[in-house]
Amino acid sequence: DIEIPESHPRYQSLLTRHRIEEGVEKGITSKQGLIAEGRGEAFDYLLGERTHPAADEAERAAAAHLLLAEHPVLSVNGNVAALVPGEMVELAAAVDADVEVNLFNRTEERLEAIADHLRDHGATEVKGLAADGRIPGLDHERAKVDADGIGAADVVLVPLEDGDRAEALGAMGKTEIVIDLNPLSRSAQTAAVPVVDNIMRAIPNITAHARDLRDAPREELERIVAEFDADGALAAAEEAIRSGSLDDAKTETEMDAESD
Ligand code: ATP
Ligand code: MG
Repeated sequence: DIEIPESHPRYQSLLTRHRIEEGVEKGITSKQGLIAEGRGEAFDYLLGERTHPAADEAERAAAAHLLLAEHPVLSVNGNVAALVPGEMVELAAAVDADVEVNLFNRTEERLEAIADHLRDHGATEVKGLAADGRIPGLDHERAKVDADGIGAADVVLVPLEDGDRAEALGAMGKTEIVIDLNPLSRSAQTAAVPVVDNIMRAIPNITAHARDLRDAPREELERIVAEFDADGALAAAEEAIRSGSLDDAKTETEMDAESD
């Protein structure tokens, strides 16, 4: 195990990288997961490694959707399991959602390893192993879901989802919340709620919003959902990248203080 000093100016990013490496070693994360991590890091760097106001709004809208849902499901892949296992379990408890393992490169071994890892972090029930449902329009392996999990969900949170699957889930009429640092990715573009933020910051913030909104009247949740503008959120993220948000981004000392 390596020790990363918290005073390091890029502590968060090193921690993220380290967790993904550990995920690969434990058989939770695929090697392709390392590449996805690299893409994510590049976008996070361009965004100044912080949650922009538009992303915070998306996170609040995500919380409202999850609270309003009949049957919300949180999808977990190898990167998500490595980065935020306990945080996903906490969010599931806060909004009363199912947790389902969902892999691009599906192997029984990795499914089991991820389910065990989630249980180690407090999950009581983990879906995704029955695989008795299918998403129409995808090839066999990638179409597999649990019939009483994602198959029956009205709202799905799919962090770091691949573009094809995100589109196919949307075509099934499910309300999709996607977390993806790349505002140009197809996954983000097809989402009802695209959250352009690092999953390490996004999940705890969605949970905080859910706790804050837990006792809010239904009309208020519905208003938050109705007022959310997906295209506006994507445009704001792209603008933050293009306009060199690094200029007004927090200083490294500020980012440092936050990671303590
Ligand atoms: P498309 O959606 O255009 O089809 P893709 O799904 O094939 O692209 P991948 O590299 O498979 O692209 O997906 C990984 C995505 O996850 C990237 O867009 C990357 O920015 C994002 N990502 C990686 N790590 C994180 C993270 N920690 N938090 C949020 N998003 C991340
Ligand atoms: Mg994608």
